[in-house]
Amino acid sequence: MTTIAANLQAVRARIARAAEAAGRRAGDIVLVAVSKTFPAQRIAEAHAAGQSAFGENHVQEAVAKITALAALPIEWHFIGPIQSNKTGPIAEHFQWVHSVEREKIAVRLNEARPEGLPPLNVCIQVNVSGEHSKSGIAPGGEIELAEAIARLPRLRLRGLMAIPEPTPDVEFQRRRFALLRELKDKLAGRGYALDTLSMGMSDDLEAAIMEGATMVRIGTAIFGPRRKT
Ligand SMILES: *Cc1c(COP(=O)(O)O)cnc(C)c1O
Repeated sequence: MTTIAANLQAVRARIARAAEAAGRRAGDIVLVAVSKTFPAQRIAEAHAAGQSAFGENHVQEAVAKITALAALPIEWHFIGPIQSNKTGPIAEHFQWVHSVEREKIAVRLNEARPEGLPPLNVCIQVNVSGEHSKSGIAPGGEIELAEAIARLPRLRLRGLMAIPEPTPDVEFQRRRFALLRELKDKLAGRGYALDTLSMGMSDDLEAAIMEGATMVRIGTAIFGPRRKT
């Protein structure tokens, strides 16, 4: 077995254990393998080991890999910061965007989403870490942004995403994830049909699953440490 296949197996086992501890079904949690900085070859290897959803955070790098791997039935997730001049390639090449935090970006993604493709699945990124983080809309802001996205026919709002600041304190991790879940429940209470909580990475996936994560985004635990870019 390759290292990546073994790592994937270990991550799937962690997800299954965490789901069981939370009284949830492992099948309700989607694993997004975060392949940023790793070459297409490693993605193909993970795909051969049964992994079908991959996350990327840099448009140019991602489009090169998506093009190289076009023959494989991969679901691509954009998870990084979005510059307004990059919305075109994102809307054309990805099935999911987790990191929408401004109406202007949502409008541009909607305009750029090709007619022949289904609506682009999007999550609103919320900053649940206050001054410790610069990315994501402040809690509460997701309500107005959700209203704006609901008016855009080429986008489909699926839920919320967060990247809390790293901490080894599991109780603290859980409070941040619980906040995101509460914000999603509030939006659902306003009538939005949401099925996605994108939260949890290599170091905190257990806490995220305890608090209701439906998608975990895992890089290091699958592909190994990244070179600093
Ligand atoms: C890099 C990245 C991840 C994966 O982080 P790991 O700690 O390597 O698992 C998850 N989500 C986002 C948004 C990322 O940029």
